[in-house]
Amino acid sequence: MSEPIYDKLALIGLGLIGASMALAAREQGLANDIVGYTRRPETRAIAKSLNIADSYPESAAAAVEGADLVVLATPVGSFSDIAVEIGGRLKPGATVTDVGSVKASVVKSVGPHLAPNVHFIPGHPIAGTEHSGPAAGFSTLFQGRWCILTPPAGVDERALEQLERFWRALGCSVEKMTPEHHDLVLAITSHVPHLIAYNIVATAADLEAVTSSEVIKYSAGGFRDFTRIAASDPVMWRDVFLNNKEAVLSMLQRFNEDLTALQRAIRWGDAETLEKVFARTRAIRRSIIEAGQETAEPDFGRHSKDPSSQGKAK
Ligand code: NAP
Repeated sequence: MSEPIYDKLALIGLGLIGASMALAAREQGLANDIVGYTRRPETRAIAKSLNIADSYPESAAAAVEGADLVVLATPVGSFSDIAVEIGGRLKPGATVTDVGSVKASVVKSVGPHLAPNVHFIPGHPIAGTEHSGPAAGFSTLFQGRWCILTPPAGVDERALEQLERFWRALGCSVEKMTPEHHDLVLAITSHVPHLIAYNIVATAADLEAVTSSEVIKYSAGGFRDFTRIAASDPVMWRDVFLNNKEAVLSMLQRFNEDLTALQRAIRWGDAETLEKVFARTRAIRRSIIEAGQETAEPDFGRHSKDPSSQGKAK
């Protein structure tokens, strides 16, 4: 147990990320009062039954009343409306952050609705699973993961230090960068891979020569891994692509060029090029494992590490 870092923590959104933050913050004793808001009564009932927060106000505006840290943990497309709703209700001196998977568009959609006497420090924990909702949350989700913060120029240093301490206490290492750099990095490491997974699974399902039952029956390791990623929340990912359009399109262009080069190597029987590319990518996989961001276990160790993959989630 640590010393509380904030007196009152308000989580707007109690899905995988919001619920995991609530559970971890309680376990670590990081706030004296944890308030959780979620839009639908059904989700609220699930969160209550799992005892995720201390109280569950029925509006975001009520949830942020008197809060020292407010975290937006809903799909990024909903941030602007929420910011309008809570903008006038925030405690002076409060810190507002978010966990959205894109950053430049969040700065534009949230920032203008907040008063100058609150500290807005956008963030993104690089942690997650393909599961959604409060039942998917677990307190160790952030252990050993990175959290990227994109503090604006002239940020209040004390508020920034406090937020960094909070994320470290949840288990993350904290890195700071500009929102634009974040969006470029995440486009290639997360957004484009998800798009490729969504696309390959959709293409396989559409193939007339291969029935969908064959796709399921003969799905080998490679395809199965894509289906896991392609099971990620449709609304969350719709918003990611709508809000990181330029970086994703630019990375996709580069991806298509490299794919064309591989296509040419296959057409011309260029064994050397194929082997060279595959050897290079194998080395990258090894360095990810060495960096502690993945495991070499079968099924990537997910069944042993992530309780939400053991039938707990949706
Ligand atoms: P989730 O499990 O699907 O939960 C979404 C939460 O947002 C629920 O409380 C839901 O409320 C609420 N919500 C959905 N649409 C809303 C709307 N239009 N207005 C207000 N509330 C709405 O989502 P999540 O995976 O926790 O993701 C939340 C945020 O974290 C997203 O911005 C995402 O980009 C980011 N993120 C996700 C991951 C990941 O791997 N999943 C990783 C890092 C960051 P109801 O159920 O009550 O409708």
